[in-house]
Amino acid sequence: MHLTFHGGAGTVTGSKTLVEAGAARVLVDCGLFQGLKALRLQNRAQPPFDAHTLDAVVLTHAHIDHAGYLPALAKAGFHGKAWCTEGTADLCRVLLPDAGHLQEEDARYANKRGFSRHHPALPLYTREDAERALELLSPVGYGRSFEPVEGVSARFRRAGHIVGAARVELDAGGRRVVFSGDVGRPGDPIFLPPDPLEACDGIVVESTYGDRKHEVGDPADALARALRPVLDRGGVVMVPAFAVGRAQTLLHLIARLKADHRIADVPVFLDSPMAIDATQLYCKHVTDHRLDHDGCTAMCRAATYARTPDESKALNKRDGPMIILAGSGMATGGRIVHHLAHRGRDPNNAVLLVGYQAAGTRGQALLGGAEGVKIHGQFIPIKAERLRMDSLSAHADAGELLEWLRTLRTPPRKAWINHGEPAASDMLRVRIRDVLGWEAEVARPGQRVELD
Ligand SMILES: [Zn+2]
Repeated sequence: MHLTFHGGAGTVTGSKTLVEAGAARVLVDCGLFQGLKALRLQNRAQPPFDAHTLDAVVLTHAHIDHAGYLPALAKAGFHGKAWCTEGTADLCRVLLPDAGHLQEEDARYANKRGFSRHHPALPLYTREDAERALELLSPVGYGRSFEPVEGVSARFRRAGHIVGAARVELDAGGRRVVFSGDVGRPGDPIFLPPDPLEACDGIVVESTYGDRKHEVGDPADALARALRPVLDRGGVVMVPAFAVGRAQTLLHLIARLKADHRIADVPVFLDSPMAIDATQLYCKHVTDHRLDHDGCTAMCRAATYARTPDESKALNKRDGPMIILAGSGMATGGRIVHHLAHRGRDPNNAVLLVGYQAAGTRGQALLGGAEGVKIHGQFIPIKAERLRMDSLSAHADAGELLEWLRTLRTPPRKAWINHGEPAASDMLRVRIRDVLGWEAEVARPGQRVELD
């Protein structure tokens, strides 16, 4: 069995690993590169393998950095099945058309303003392309064996990261390799902990937070501490939130804080049609998480939904205090960008950054203390307070990753570390070697390895 790391190696986006076993070729994850321009440009290149003859795609979860390239792969000629869990299929039906729509919008805007280097700027794929690609999705339940291609069998196990998130186990030629996908946290407020590992020969493990330890304590406390001063001074808290995962965790915690009178009962807006749809899917896939019916209902009712562009624009006329949650999670696009442009100059307001902010994103620039950000070709000074919360992460930190890996009683022959910035991946490699005594290597972009 051979693995080639075509994305999610040396970076946290663009996850794609080609698995070759005999004549079978399966792509595990099909993510879009995001962040730095040099990375994003890789989305435009032809896939480094023949998309026409690829047998199947297996998706660990629906986040765009793991599934967002599927429509582009289909455009490049892939016509096999894309296997995933039911939750992932439902979320892809929300996320992928939206990703296409966003790219069309960006291309249209770039052409109107003439700031693109490409004339005309073209979307990588359209909403229609994405809708066509959805027909490839082939959902299968957790724990059930399926055959993506003759000679390869596979299973999904819970990863506790978002609705539908899974790790995938692939068996071929007498060997088993496990792909961690994104690994959730044992004490997540919404999700069940990741399923323990079972014997395998090789494992590919993510390292988003491979060099960090999350804040300890109840994330509700940290959220209350972040929100209260801004709301008390009548400010607006803008939260760039991933539509799937973070947005729901925030809504759940805000509902709890309000019910306990720990923050004022201020208006909360969920300004993202995608996040609204995703929130409702949490109530459909109840076995994926810890929330009961009442918990789901409270989460769904924690915010007023701004679905249409007009409803979103109407928020500009409102005064604080209030909380606005909008995509995208790293402020690379979406409606949060308009709120930053509109309210970012006011030091009374705040931007709350709640998740991983990849290099090259506006979110990371804000965290790094940048005086402003470029929005649609224009520099916007940002005077709003920057707040940061790490405890809301839907990713295990280094210690939690090690604890999860430790559930594997017999060491694998080899562990490959992917999906991390180089320093994070290397730190996790060292800890896997020193603490667990496993042979471990950081996956390099384009590297082809053998599991013998
Ligand atoms: Zn993810």
